[in-house]
Amino acid sequence: MARYAEAVCKLCRREGQKLFLKGERCYGEKCGVVKKAYAPGQHGKGRKKNSEYGLQLRAKQSTRRFYGILENQFRKYYELAEKKKGKSGEILLALIESRFDNIIYRLGFASSRTQARQMVLHGHFFINNSKVNIPSCLLKPSDIVSLSEKSKSNSNIKDIISSNESRPVPRWLEVDRERLEGKMLAIPEREDIDFEVEETLIVELYSK
Ligand code: SF4
Repeated sequence: MARYAEAVCKLCRREGQKLFLKGERCYGEKCGVVKKAYAPGQHGKGRKKNSEYGLQLRAKQSTRRFYGILENQFRKYYELAEKKKGKSGEILLALIESRFDNIIYRLGFASSRTQARQMVLHGHFFINNSKVNIPSCLLKPSDIVSLSEKSKSNSNIKDIISSNESRPVPRWLEVDRERLEGKMLAIPEREDIDFEVEETLIVELYSK
């Protein structure tokens, strides 16, 4: 799991947008971006002009942090995206969205991607009836994820899932709240992904 020495809210403030790293807090008034809408540090309120490289770096860093992915792994996703036909930036985002931990979060089975990653690592979820504890596992359309029978009676997990029921589920996923299952219906398109980033800047950065 990616670990950062500084407080996670500072990461959002540095990127100038919510990265949704702290669960419920991210949706309320206590959100660091809402309370302090400027970059952290002594010169945080000053206006900065970003160079071309600076913009490309920020695009990559904010995406990496949004999904909680370390640099090496992020680059591997880019290399994989580059080998596929189509727009590399969009393919990159679709690949990352297809990660097991992200899908658990998107289905509303966890309050944040960090929490989803922990839950996957602890073996609470199955893919197509097989236990999988690898958060980076990539899902494909028609794959079904489900909460293990044992975890269905875990009161902490029940609370987490009920607290996220109102969060909208993207159209490329389908959730069954009775059975605590989710299905990947399609590969997400760019318009399905709610993260604000110019993904072409990431491609420019890596193709140097
Ligand atoms: Fe980011 Fe969430 Fe902290 Fe807001 S509360 S700054 S979205 S981590």
